[in-house]
Amino acid sequence: MNYYNIQVALQEVPGEISICFSICGCQIRCKGCHSPFLWKEENGLELSKKIYTEILNNYKGFATCILFMGGEWHQKKIIEYLKYAQKEGYKTCLYSGEKRISKNLLQHLTWVKTGKWIAEKGGLENPKTNQQFIEVQTNNILNHLFLKNY
Ligand code: SF4
Repeated sequence: MNYYNIQVALQEVPGEISICFSICGCQIRCKGCHSPFLWKEENGLELSKKIYTEILNNYKGFATCILFMGGEWHQKKIIEYLKYAQKEGYKTCLYSGEKRISKNLLQHLTWVKTGKWIAEKGGLENPKTNQQFIEVQTNNILNHLFLKNY
């Protein structure tokens, strides 16, 4: 499982400081994709357990959430990494372009963003969006948290 970059993200998960791992190999290929460099599986560098655990250890006490931008296609690996994050006290989130996420994966997520990018409908900050930001445990859609900037 390769990552293209790792960033601290302040807006993707409201109220949380997230460490965001952008994972390569997205096959959804939305028209107007903002990150086409994520399409090729072999782009970026391998997200080894060593790199991953070091980053989580380094950000402990500062960051509160581990966010994966894609990576659901590496289900076994991503579940292993989400479990580690939860064990270390982090909340977890997945941003996916898929409409549905498997139950196996959902049970290791605090939040999930579903839905592909459709330019006319916009992202989570747009009331017309097709995308949903969901709190997994309650199944509540929390898109309203993104509307203030619209
Ligand atoms: S899901 Fe995201 S990364 Fe994948 S094609 Fe769509 S916009 Fe690009």
